[in-house]
Amino acid sequence: MANMIDGKLIAASLRDECAQRVLTLKEKGVSPRLDVIIVGDDPASHQYVNSRLKDCADIGLESITHTLPAVAEQAELVDLIEQLNADAAVHGILLQMPLPKSMNSDEVIAHISPKKDVDGLTVANAGALYTGREGFAPCTPSSVMTLIKSTGVPIKGKNAVVVGRSIVVGKPAAMLLLKEHATVTICHSRTADLAAHTRDADILVAAVGVPGLIKGDMIKPGAVVVDAGINRVDGKTVGDVEFESAEKVAGYISPVPGGVGPVTRKILLANTLTAAERMNEAE
Ligand code: NDP
Repeated sequence: MANMIDGKLIAASLRDECAQRVLTLKEKGVSPRLDVIIVGDDPASHQYVNSRLKDCADIGLESITHTLPAVAEQAELVDLIEQLNADAAVHGILLQMPLPKSMNSDEVIAHISPKKDVDGLTVANAGALYTGREGFAPCTPSSVMTLIKSTGVPIKGKNAVVVGRSIVVGKPAAMLLLKEHATVTICHSRTADLAAHTRDADILVAAVGVPGLIKGDMIKPGAVVVDAGINRVDGKTVGDVEFESAEKVAGYISPVPGGVGPVTRKILLANTLTAAERMNEAE
């Protein structure tokens, strides 16, 4: 039976670290702050944002929400972003996605200062990840890496397979694994023989959005399996890995829920604190 990678436990320890970093910043006269922008009234987006605000309050990190109506002009949103970029009291900007269809997300995101882009959405931060420069990786792949590292299994020289190539999860996860010297394969919907690749993985990351796609017989015995998938099936949240069969083969496995998700939330806080620390050091 696989060892469980307990995301909730790791999140709790990250939370305490973040709370300590807030205190240290405040001792230096810096009040770290995350500004959240939400456009429209999609209930799921508002629920997501509210949970982020609670996370901030929990560690004493100031957070301010800016709500624009769904009918707002793109120029109005861009103006707001430019104001937050220029405001030295703001350390992180979280732009809640999706934006209304009337707006061009890429054009809007391009206005976020990379230094405050704590969600790692900008092309500048994708480029920083690609070239190994200082920046912010998106929160979910950073969470994936935190879970993998928590096992203590060395990454260097291992075969790592990432299933999924989105710009928010799969591709950045692959880049982060490469940075740690894994030999990385990225699989996607056109991969000819998915199982042949996954069976070769010492480290397997699932970021697909297809419930139970990865079955136990597709996993190398003893592998580290991290499941970033979040799927609703019959009112339950399940991952991209078929947990029951996978846990019999894997060496380590992250559950869904209780794996990648809780840690992702804390990474957003950690990134905001990193932004505040960097800005303070640069002064
Ligand atoms: P996308 O839909 O953007 O990307 C899915 C990827 O999976 C694509 O690259 C696609 O390939 C690939 N894919 C789809 N079907 C198959 C298949 N049958 N075999 C192999 N590859 C396949 O999703 P995201 O990356 O945004 O999200 C992935 C999962 O992670 C979702 O379940 C999402 O809910 C979850 N997620 C979790 C977060 C967290 O904090 N835990 C945060 C964000 C997302 P192709 O490129 O060829 O289309």
